Formats: sequence, structure tokens, C-alpha cells
Amino acid sequence: MARLCDPILCSGCTACASVCPYDCISMNSDNEGFRRPVIDTARCVECGLCSKACPVLNTPSTTHLPLAYAAKSKDEAVRSVSTSGGVFTLLAEHILAQGGVVFGAAYDADFKVEHRMVESPEALSALRGAKYAQSDLGDCFRQVKEQLSQGKKVLFSGTPCQVAGLQAFLDKPEPDLLLVDLVCHGAPSPAVWAQYVNWRSEQIADGHRPVSVNVRSKDSGWSTYSMDIRWPYGRNYLATNQEDPFLRAYTGVLCLRPSCHRCSAKGLNRCADFTLGDYWGVGEQMPAMHDNRGTSIVLVHSDKAKALWDELSPAMTVRQADARRCMEHNPSALQSAKYDAENRNSFMHRYAGEDFAALVDELLPKPAQNNSFTSRLKRFLKI
Ligand SMILES: Cc1cc2nc3c(=O)[nH]c(=O)nc-3n(C[C@H](O)[C@H](O)[C@H](O)COP(=O)(O)OP(=O)(O)OC[C@H]3O[C@@H](n4cnc5c(N)ncnc54)[C@H](O)[C@@H]3O)c2cc1C
Ligand code: SF4
Ligand code: SF4
Ligand code: SF4
Repeated sequence: MARLCDPILCSGCTACASVCPYDCISMNSDNEGFRRPVIDTARCVECGLCSKACPVLNTPSTTHLPLAYAAKSKDEAVRSVSTSGGVFTLLAEHILAQGGVVFGAAYDADFKVEHRMVESPEALSALRGAKYAQSDLGDCFRQVKEQLSQGKKVLFSGTPCQVAGLQAFLDKPEPDLLLVDLVCHGAPSPAVWAQYVNWRSEQIADGHRPVSVNVRSKDSGWSTYSMDIRWPYGRNYLATNQEDPFLRAYTGVLCLRPSCHRCSAKGLNRCADFTLGDYWGVGEQMPAMHDNRGTSIVLVHSDKAKALWDELSPAMTVRQADARRCMEHNPSALQSAKYDAENRNSFMHRYAGEDFAALVDELLPKPAQNNSFTSRLKRFLKI
């Protein structure tokens, strides 16, 4: 029978909608802008496939401890436009070079975030770089299955809940599929992101649409990254993560999906082949690997991933790390974001009608003491 998980725990992964043989589940936006499954009960035949495919109802259990590395791509041009050390691009280029396809998150023409498939190195740049809004997966899971059935190699990259959803939808190991997930603080509301882009565009560019957006610009350094938005006629906005109100609302957990406060996809054990993240704290733990231009933390979970890692390592500067220790400054890898109901509700009810920056200042007064990115993040995690 059609039984979906508790809406508070639902990550919107689309596994249930993708698996339904009668297409009776649609993914509709809720009043916070998050996509959620809605069943057309009149057409449902109660076959139960959607319940079996839900990764929240059937949490995958793995107990291995992954291998861990600090890594930086030797291609400085790629690293400068990547969020961390540029490892995603190396993995993706490897799959494309074998005639495969890569799925990841890109901006559409209106800077909404969507998952898409790319087939060429030129198209890969759209997937590069973190986007801080939950991506619309569309029918990517079915496209992945179709590409695999054609004998193609496929890399799917996404948040841990998206990767867990794809794995649950496919329901069996696929030798030609490489699953790459992320250390994940959480997924901000697409509606809040759209409101921020509109508000900022009104403020700086008379409402013109931006020509580029980078939520993780390294212009002010990797560890104090910036929001960088550009509009036509040379109008630019650049503000660090301590100043920009969207980045503050994101790290200050005002606009995350409810499931991000109770995430079942985090931890050291994942169904992904690789987990990628920022190696926060690398300067303290491995000073030689820190140049403030981006160092990745890489968890290698499977034999398939280890073989590929050994093959690709010459293109990177790599040091072995300890899987637990390397997450000491990155609690998002293991723990869900704290749920501050009062602040979150206030923000989600008011952001659309009020000045974005003034609201964030009211709800998240700037603390005077240690205000490094890691220390601020720790204040909003359950630790
Ligand atoms: C929403 C979000 C939260 C994150 N939180 C943390 C964190 O708390 N700590 C940490 O160490 N690292 C976090 N990361 C991961 C980190 O920012 C980098 O994305 C990761 O290290 C890969 O960097 P890279 O240099 O290898 O490649 P990049 O080229 O930067 O790769 C980016 C990859 O992320 C995917 N991606 C981008 N945006 C999204 C999105 N909205 N949804 C799904 N997939 C997306 C792209 O498809 C691409 O595969 C987060 C990433 C995202 C997207
Ligand atoms: S029970 Fe079967 S038919 Fe009904 S929504 Fe789920 S998958 Fe579709
Ligand atoms: S399968 Fe994914 S989208 Fe569907 S109910 Fe479960 S978590 Fe939500
Ligand atoms: S915190 Fe968990 S539920 Fe939220 S986007 Fe990340 S993996 Fe998904």
C-alpha cells in the first residue's frame, strides 16, 4: 500500500515518485518552496513499491569505516572555480572520457537550482561549484536508469539524501554507476533563495537579472568565502560569509528543509562511493596542505572507488587522513543542524515581505567573540 515517510523526515528525494509504475506521485512545492510527494489516491493501485523505495523508511545499513584523504587538484584553474579542492571535476572528467554521462546540480537561466545530465567536458562547468538551494531533481533518477540500461557509465553527484534516494530507487548495485555525495550542512529553501536573488537584484541592479552567481567565491579566500553576484553593465556584489545575509541565514539554520534537522543520510557510513567536502581545519591538522585556495576532504567508501582513487591520484596533491579526526572541524558531516523552531518559523513567515538583511540582523545578531566560519557553524549544530 502507498505509505510514505513522515513529512518532517521526507528529504524530497523523488525515489517514490520515480518508482511508481502508474505515475501517481507528483512532486509539488509546499508553502516553504520545498518539493514534496503527493499521491493521486484515485489512481494508486496500492502496489507498495513507493514505500519500498523510500530511503527514510528503509535506511541503508553499512558499518565500514571509509578511507579518508586530504586532496587538491593540481589543475589550479579548475581548483579556483571549484568549491573545495576540485575533486568533483576530476571524477566527472574521468567518466566523460569513457563516453559516460554525469548528473549534478546547475543553475537554470533564472538561477533556480536543478539537477541535469551532461555529456561533454564543456557542459561540465555548469555543475561545478556548490549551489545553496535544494535542487529540483526532475526525472533524473529515471534518466540514470535509462543511461545505465544503454550500457553507459554514469556519475551521479548530489546531497547524501539524493544519493540514498537514487540507490533505493535502483534497488541493486550497478557496476557502471559512481555515486558521489557531499558533506552536507543542509538544503536551503528554493523559495528563500529566489527571494534573496530578487531582493539583491532590486537593491543593486534595478531588478535586472544577474549574469552570474557564485555562493562560494574564493576571492576573499577559501575559508572566508564570499557571495559574488554580477549583473549586466559591470554591476557587482561581493560580501563574505560573515556579512552576506543569505549566507548568514543559511549557516544560521533559518531556512533549511525540515528533514535537514533530522537527517538520516549523514555519518561516516554512506551508500555513496565517494563523499566530498571542505577540509575545514586542514591548516591545523596538515599545514602543508593548506594554501587557502581550497582543500577537499574525500571519503572513499567502496573498492570500486578505491581503484579509481589510485588511478586519479597523480592529478592531485594527496595526503592520507584519519576518517574521524578529519571531521573534527566539520560537524555537518555527522550531525544534523540544530532546530531553532522560534527563529526558523519567524524567518520563514516574514522573509518574503520584509527587508532580507534587516530580518537576518534581527534574528541573528552578530556575536562579538570568535566569529570564524567553523565556530559560527558549530553554534548552529547539535553539539
Ligand atoms: C547544499 C550544500 C551543502 C554543503 N555543506 C557542506 C558542509 O557543511 N561542509 C563541507 O565540508 N562541505 C559541504 N558541502 C560540499 C562542498 O561545498 C563541495 O560541494 C564539495 O566539497 C565538492 O567540492 P569540489 O571542489 O570537489 O567540487 P565542486 O565543483 O565544487 O562540486 C560541486 C558538486 O556539488 C554538486 N552540487 C552543487 N550544489 C548542489 C546542490 N544544491 N544540491 C546537490 N548537489 C549540489 C554539484 O553537482 C557538484 O557535483 C556542501 C555542498 C552543498 C551543495
Ligand atoms: S502504492 Fe504503487 S501505485 Fe500507489 S503510489 Fe505507491 S507506487 Fe504508485
Ligand atoms: S522516497 Fe524520498 S521523496 Fe518519497 S517520501 Fe521518501 S524521502 Fe520523501
Ligand atoms: S542535511 Fe540531510 S536531508 Fe538535508 S539536504 Fe543534506 S542530506 Fe539531505
